Amino acid sequence: MAALNQNILVAEMTAWRRDLHAHPEFGFEEKRTSAFVADKLREYGLDEVVEGVGGTGVVGTLRRGSSNRAVALRADMDALRITEQGNHEHASRTPGVMHACGHDGHTAMLLGAAKMLAAEGGFDGTVRFVFQPAEEWGKGALAMLDDGLMRRFPFDEIYGLHNMPGLPVGHFETRSGPLMSAEDNFEIVLEGLGGHAARPHVGREVLVAACAVVTNLQTIAARRLNPADVAVVSVTELITDGTRNALPGHARILGDARSFRPEVSAEIERQMRIIAEGTALAYNCTASVAYSREFVPLVNDADATAAALAAAAGVFEPQAINGKGELVTASEDFARFLDHVPGCFAYIGNGEASAPLHNPRFDFNDAALIHGASFHAAIVRHRLPVA
Ligand SMILES: [Zn+2]
Ligand SMILES: [Zn+2]
Repeated sequence: MAALNQNILVAEMTAWRRDLHAHPEFGFEEKRTSAFVADKLREYGLDEVVEGVGGTGVVGTLRRGSSNRAVALRADMDALRITEQGNHEHASRTPGVMHACGHDGHTAMLLGAAKMLAAEGGFDGTVRFVFQPAEEWGKGALAMLDDGLMRRFPFDEIYGLHNMPGLPVGHFETRSGPLMSAEDNFEIVLEGLGGHAARPHVGREVLVAACAVVTNLQTIAARRLNPADVAVVSVTELITDGTRNALPGHARILGDARSFRPEVSAEIERQMRIIAEGTALAYNCTASVAYSREFVPLVNDADATAAALAAAAGVFEPQAINGKGELVTASEDFARFLDHVPGCFAYIGNGEASAPLHNPRFDFNDAALIHGASFHAAIVRHRLPVA
């Protein structure tokens, strides 16, 4: 089959990306985006396009040859509740919502790969194009899995990409084993007895107790975990019911913890309960801890990572490929798929001048679109070779 004209494909992907950027949708509300994706996949003549998988998810299937093997490629579609400050022509037209994580680019480059693979073939087997909703919530992948993704659209392995500000355009980075962390959230509630600010000895005020809890929580990562384990415990909010001249009797401490192994996450929770309850007791108050696990750690499979690096060698310059990237204490919903099949998640450069992810001035770098689309096509051809 004839190769697609790359200049035309780049122009198309750029137009799609900017259209998606101008019309961002929050997690599980990606109605326009998923319709856009499904229309394009049908236009390219995919064998099957199914909408509404896990809410607003879309799965496209493309078959060639006779192999029973199947490879999935995944993009995320959701935007964030952030007010865009960029003033380019394709800036968000929806107040308070913007593509500040580049999922518009991820969607456009996976559509580009679908168009390329549908037109050119060059593989033997099945490709599943998985467009997931609600990545930022950490809920979209589970919604698709709970909706029977693996049973209805089975695949043997899965690959995904995320743009990375600071990494030069044309660079590719990943690592075997743990790549991104789990995210746990916690809420510690302290109860005492509020009262007059002038008479603290009459009540059991909670603010000094809450400050002691916040300080003592710093000893989890510093003193209670094995130093060989990477972990972050961050308190992000402290809210009381006190006022100018009244001591609080109720306080809430909220925060976020990151780790790379379930055993470490369990130990953070255990130590947090000891600290919260013990510290509260010392201040004649009580504490209760609610601890939830929002994202699981993202762990790349060794064979799939080797395959991703081999495929990347056909797309990126040798010196622009890093197979020993750093651990990142951010989280990714892609990890949920890796609980079911082996796979690899990797970063492509969004440029050194790029604003950070989740920044109101962030914009996906359109020069990276062709790298993403080409990598997606390359990994399919590498894993589903024509005999
Ligand atoms: Zn994000
Ligand atoms: Zn993202």
